[in-house]
Amino acid sequence: MEALKQKILKDGRALNDQVLLVDSFLNHQVDAKLMAQVGEEFARLFANQGITRIMTVESSGIAPAAMTALGMGLPLVIMKKSSSRILSDDTLQTQVHSFTKNSDYQLTVKRKYIHPGDRVLVIDDFLANGEAAFGAARLIEEAGATVAGIGIVIEKAFQPGGRRLAEAGYKVISLARVAKMAENHIEFCD
Ligand code: 5GP
Repeated sequence: MEALKQKILKDGRALNDQVLLVDSFLNHQVDAKLMAQVGEEFARLFANQGITRIMTVESSGIAPAAMTALGMGLPLVIMKKSSSRILSDDTLQTQVHSFTKNSDYQLTVKRKYIHPGDRVLVIDDFLANGEAAFGAARLIEEAGATVAGIGIVIEKAFQPGGRRLAEAGYKVISLARVAKMAENHIEFCD
């Protein structure tokens, strides 16, 4: 998506060859107009696939996921990051390793917000090693639902998440794919 790539080049900042800072338009301050375009693009790319529900991981996935839900006219469910295990029949949980914090959290969702037979589109801000997306997929499948697709705003294609998810059979579409980065330098795949 060209407008997104231009924004990343203009306002994004590679801290090093691993971490991209986009907190001026995606992770802290939000460019709502750009997010609306992102939502429209995901709605177009994942149209006619029988999707019934959008899901994301708090908190940075919420803006693009909400715009996608709006574009598709579907409910949005936010999976929570909990620090402790909840032992209850009405909650699903799975452990996920956080790329940015280098620590583990319990990805959590209430069963009443995901139903057997749902076809779920997972939306997230970044794809690095794929841990968050695999965690989301585990919860969705444990609920008896299907992952119909995974939409990523920015994929760091030099990290293994995209390949791992594709090998596991998931349909992944990323709006911007970063081929490589260095301090203050960003290159896209195409
Ligand atoms: P993964 O689970 O694929 O290893 O990492 C994806 C998650 O880590 C995303 O949900 C995102 O919050 C965070 N993340 C990974 N890489 C970056 C990055 O370069 N910049 C920012 N801002 N977040 C990242």
